[in-house]
Amino acid sequence: MAENQERAENKKLNNIINSSCYSNIITMQTRSQTTRAEFEVNIDFDEASRLWNSNKKKIKNGCYEYVCGKQLQNGEFCKKKTKNSPFCFVHKNKM
Ligand SMILES: [Zn+2]
Repeated sequence: MAENQERAENKKLNNIINSSCYSNIITMQTRSQTTRAEFEVNIDFDEASRLWNSNKKKIKNGCYEYVCGKQLQNGEFCKKKTKNSPFCFVHKNKM
């Protein structure tokens, strides 16, 4: 009788493990990790966006034109136009 009860308890436990409740817990953990990952991606995106904009200047119609993009001592990027070179006339000889 007691042995049967124990077996029944084990079966119930297995059912809980295999149930959707248990997989919901896993999903919730995965989701919170995903949220954290998205947050980190946002930070990286800001940096990537800043770097992406570093050698481009926004012009009308939402277009961009390429500029020098050499990082200056003040942390800004050189916005001088380029001509047949990745950098402006000031920086192209300094690379
Ligand atoms: Zn420059």
